[in-house]
Amino acid sequence: MKTCVISLPDEAATLSLGAQLARACGSAAVIYLYGDLGAGKTTFSRGFLHALGHQGNVKSPTYTLVEPYTLGDRALYHFDLYRLADPEELEFMGIRDYFSGEAICLVEWPQQGAGFLPPPDLTITLRYVGEAREAELAASSVPGQQWLEQFEQDRAPR
Ligand code: ADP
Ligand code: MG
Repeated sequence: MKTCVISLPDEAATLSLGAQLARACGSAAVIYLYGDLGAGKTTFSRGFLHALGHQGNVKSPTYTLVEPYTLGDRALYHFDLYRLADPEELEFMGIRDYFSGEAICLVEWPQQGAGFLPPPDLTITLRYVGEAREAELAASSVPGQQWLEQFEQDRAPR
């Protein structure tokens, strides 16, 4: 499946990557966000949410684990599983309702939910490059592949 690497010289570039992917992706999507603390997962999510019309703050739901959003007729759940002690807790949270296949799910620290999360359509890995960052994008489903192709077309210079 398709992968690509995007360099992100500053915060604006990370926000813009989030916005571009939000525009390319469908209304039911599972997106895993990997990367160390401070790598830009929440910044990416903020760009994504703002592109879909969310106007308020976007904080990482570090303590609540999930923050729900309604954006027009779309539902989006932003997860931060950093503090999830045991992936089984996801069952008690009603994880199945969140991942019903009708919402966009952005998941920070998906490794913390291993075994209890549905597989991703897209995986985004953010890495430090000195003070800057880069993102590796990988598709792992047919829709994910189409969104990545759309994203690349939108970015291509004309
Ligand atoms: P995470 O959710 O991965 O822990 P955050 O998005 O909360 O990370 O924080 C990332 C920090 O790095 C923020 O201070 C943000 O301004 C900064 N940042 C985001 N993207 C870049 C970038 N491409 N280059 C440099 N700094 C960035
Ligand atoms: Mg975060």
